[in-house]
Amino acid sequence: MGTTTAALSVLKSAGAFRLAKRTTRSKLRILCYHGLWLGGRPQYGDCLYMQPRMFEERMEWLARSGYPVLSLDEAIARLDEHSLPANAVTITIDDGWFSTLMGMVPVLERLRLPATLYATTYYSTRGGPVLNVLIDYLVSHAPADALARSLYVRDLARSHPGLAAQSNAGRNAIGGQLASAVDALPGNQRLDAVREVAATLDMDIIPILEGRWFDLMSEDELRQAHRRGVDIQLHTHTHRMHELAPEKVTGEIEKNRTELSRILNVDPSTLRHFCYPSGVHSRVVFDAVRRCGIRSATTTETGLVSIEDERMSLSRILDCQSMGLLEFEARLTGIWDMITGARERMLPRKEAYTG
Ligand SMILES: [Zn+2]
Repeated sequence: MGTTTAALSVLKSAGAFRLAKRTTRSKLRILCYHGLWLGGRPQYGDCLYMQPRMFEERMEWLARSGYPVLSLDEAIARLDEHSLPANAVTITIDDGWFSTLMGMVPVLERLRLPATLYATTYYSTRGGPVLNVLIDYLVSHAPADALARSLYVRDLARSHPGLAAQSNAGRNAIGGQLASAVDALPGNQRLDAVREVAATLDMDIIPILEGRWFDLMSEDELRQAHRRGVDIQLHTHTHRMHELAPEKVTGEIEKNRTELSRILNVDPSTLRHFCYPSGVHSRVVFDAVRRCGIRSATTTETGLVSIEDERMSLSRILDCQSMGLLEFEARLTGIWDMITGARERMLPRKEAYTG
């Protein structure tokens, strides 16, 4: 048992979880998920992809925990009216991965849990894998000798003298450089370029593409999720925040809204909740986001939401594969924030992707 788990265990048996839960009962808990991991071992992307069984166990625990689970729209309305039930929880899921439809939607349906999916639309309208995440996977899993033979390593040695190409930092740097190079190509040449990268790195890309490990839902699959009761909301069209330039951010939101309202055949005004891609946000865009008709905007800052919190910057609880149930519960009760100091910033995640 780790030190944290041992300490949490002591706090729980001493009644501190119950007390914290009572103290924070007027706050809203917004859970944040992404996709599920469809590949084999080892697990990739701790907070980006969770094992399907673990997501199912979490939702089963939540359904019998006694925490009332509300839809995001109802939760925000009742937060505004000061009428939230005690210890209210909302489930949000980012991006719209194919794995979310395959593995999360059936669990949510079976347990009758409402959830909001923040969907980007670029890849849904074009199809194919999210390339910069796929590239990161390929580079981080490439055998050392294949990596050493590759051109990218020689490029890296030139541009980053002293950086060991096969270290995690080296692999990250190579992945980043490759992703930018691929992004600079015309759209119809990008996937072929990534196939070449995979071949150079001795990585078999076929099961990855066929298994759709890095795909988002297609338009038809988004409609399916919507029909099956998932609330679908905004996350920008290309998953970019453009250095927080307000007019570009509102352009992304409007394009995302136009596409989603066309795909789902819903009134654009029903698309009024937003999640900042990769959690990138700042006060400078709040007014512009609000003027787009956005009623709530979530970040990846961690913590519970108070009645007085700025609606354009709502914290969440980011659930990850490596998080034990006791820590998850500690975060839900609010004792985690009391111990660690509220509003710790999450470590940067390999979540950002570009169109
Ligand atoms: Zn995202």
